Amino acid sequence: MAEHLSKLVLDELAAGLATDAAALAHSRDCFQCRDRLAQFVEARNQARRDAPFEQVFAKLKTSHAAVESLPSAPKWRRRTFVFAPALAAAVALLIYIALPHPKADVTRLKGGASVRVLRAPDGTAVSSARPGEKVVLAVTSADQTFALVMAVEASGDINLVWPLGSPESARVAPGPEARLTPGFQVTPGSMALHAFLSKEPLKVETMRAQLEREVAEARRAGMSPLQAKAAPLVGVGRAMATLEVKPGS
Ligand SMILES: [Zn+2]
Repeated sequence: MAEHLSKLVLDELAAGLATDAAALAHSRDCFQCRDRLAQFVEARNQARRDAPFEQVFAKLKTSHAAVESLPSAPKWRRRTFVFAPALAAAVALLIYIALPHPKADVTRLKGGASVRVLRAPDGTAVSSARPGEKVVLAVTSADQTFALVMAVEASGDINLVWPLGSPESARVAPGPEARLTPGFQVTPGSMALHAFLSKEPLKVETMRAQLEREVAEARRAGMSPLQAKAAPLVGVGRAMATLEVKPGS
């Protein structure tokens, strides 16, 4: 892929002034530039809303290097992945879904990436588990060294699963299949686990925005967020596994 778009070009695109076909195509196809462009557009809209303020502070602003900085990213809902000690009492069954996928437990996408759920501590690939039971995700990728896994719930909520509490993806252990320790406890509620594998760390919020677009697309197509299609991303290996949690008897 060509180099990422410059601030100048992004600004032109945001203003609707860009005519370069390659730049337009790049802004559509590159998820990173698409995100940056969205920020430029938002910055323009904000500037329009703040017009009087803008005039008063124009001088002050230009004297600051802060002119360079982008407005802060949209405040996506942040909800940490809820661990389930309290829910362990609830009798529910985690069933590794057999949605209409060619393989029951692994979906391979571009980049040769895969994600599996293993029962801790014996490491058996599981098709079901009970809430409170500990599982660990294992990812495979050709030569990607960083991983990030997010869970999409039926409600459309998106939660970071691994690495918990991190703003970006983390390095995985080398080897054919890396375990994303320390794993987590199963909670009730169906989820689609989306793994992102890459050579460079990926920002959680960027991938969250990507998933939000995919969830929106699924909804437009009349599908559940759980069936959101993982779009190919340049330089990112993606894999998905869907988990269904059913209430127990
Ligand atoms: Zn780009």
